[in-house]
Amino acid sequence: MRYYSTNYQAPQASLKEAVVNGLAPDKGLYMPEHINPLPQQFFDHISELTFQQIACKVADAFFGEDVAAEDLHRIVCSTLSFDTPLVRVTSNIYALELFHGPTLAFKDVGARFMARLLQYFIRQERPAERSSRVNVLVATSGDTGSAVANGFLCVDGIHVYVLYPKGKVSPIQESQFTTLGQNITAIEIDGTFDDCQSLVKNAFMDADLKRHMSLTSANSINVARFLPQSFYYFYAYAQYLKLHAGNPGRLVFCTPSGNFGNICAGLFAWRMGLPVERFIAANNANDVFYRYLQSGNYKPKPSRQTIANAMDVGNPSNFARIQDLFGGSWEAICKSVSGATYTDSQIAETIRACHERHHYLLDPHGACGYRALEENLKDGETGIFLETAHPAKFKDTVESIVGAPVEMPARLAAFMQGKRRSIALGNDFAGFKNFLLSR
Ligand SMILES: *Cc1c(COP(=O)(O)O)cnc(C)c1O
Repeated sequence: MRYYSTNYQAPQASLKEAVVNGLAPDKGLYMPEHINPLPQQFFDHISELTFQQIACKVADAFFGEDVAAEDLHRIVCSTLSFDTPLVRVTSNIYALELFHGPTLAFKDVGARFMARLLQYFIRQERPAERSSRVNVLVATSGDTGSAVANGFLCVDGIHVYVLYPKGKVSPIQESQFTTLGQNITAIEIDGTFDDCQSLVKNAFMDADLKRHMSLTSANSINVARFLPQSFYYFYAYAQYLKLHAGNPGRLVFCTPSGNFGNICAGLFAWRMGLPVERFIAANNANDVFYRYLQSGNYKPKPSRQTIANAMDVGNPSNFARIQDLFGGSWEAICKSVSGATYTDSQIAETIRACHERHHYLLDPHGACGYRALEENLKDGETGIFLETAHPAKFKDTVESIVGAPVEMPARLAAFMQGKRRSIALGNDFAGFKNFLLSR
């Protein structure tokens, strides 16, 4: 399969090139040249299949031409070492719980898959071409760093450097990438998240560094991180069929969105034949996409800080993919995707009400998704929202809203007990470069 850039100014790339480069040379996002529909027979029997079996079929449609069948099977199965159960919340609203992985957020799926696929490509290279190891650089304001670090943990031949802004990451998040050791190095930058991001960008552009070491990014725009997220949309459908004696009804998926990678994966699943009525993108106060749907004008804005902070994005990077998927037509996007936007106080009110009435504890991101379904579902529709993180990841916020302690899952508590280790650096590129060269 070839991958083209959403800016159409770069040569097409192979899967390996798209994964290793992340972004196309013209700064566009890579898109697969074809979206292969799955046969009707797959959908007829989907409820008899396991999550891993479903994911293997979907992965084969995307990556089957480029990755040997056995290897792809192994990569998918070892990525999906945890379940993503569909849980009933009200009579017509279900939560697809994506927080049962190592860092308790949906990004585990994409990060784990990408780590394994990158390792596959490294191993495939002839020894003469193989450099000693591949270095992954990732800047994080919290969640991405933990998913990437844990996804790549103990993956042979790859070393990960996580750059994070000093004092600006929650203690739970920080413990998820500073306590791992092994092939993960955490670097605490005396600066902001933007400083971390520009250090990483400068490193990729530095010819001298590139001569000395092989560098790659694990950015969320990477095709190996975003496409695998379609797996659980199919699995949600399979679970729903099981609960409803094979009658799919009219399904609406609602995805709490920031950079729009997750919902974009859902749209790919739909293009592959998943029977979905429509999608809703639920946003916090960062409402650029919502405004686009209302007006047809896309106007990026600086991001605003909210209690659903993983969605504090003012210029969603996957917007280009969504546009491309619909041939640039605003009308076509509006037909399949609607939007919703909620303030912090609406998010808090939703968490409180859902907990009281339905005894289901939402996290601030999932709360946007749940509320958008509550307000927008039409007669005869059933809604599935993606519960993108465990509420305990936002313990203080959620506890103060519901006025009760939030139970901490054992694997999250284990991170908190580990010894945090990081290397302190300034925000100047020369210092960062010297550090990398000295490794
Ligand atoms: C990253 C993240 C999101 C946003 O996902 P996108 O793919 O960027 O739209 C939503 N919720 C949580 C908990 C996240 O970590």
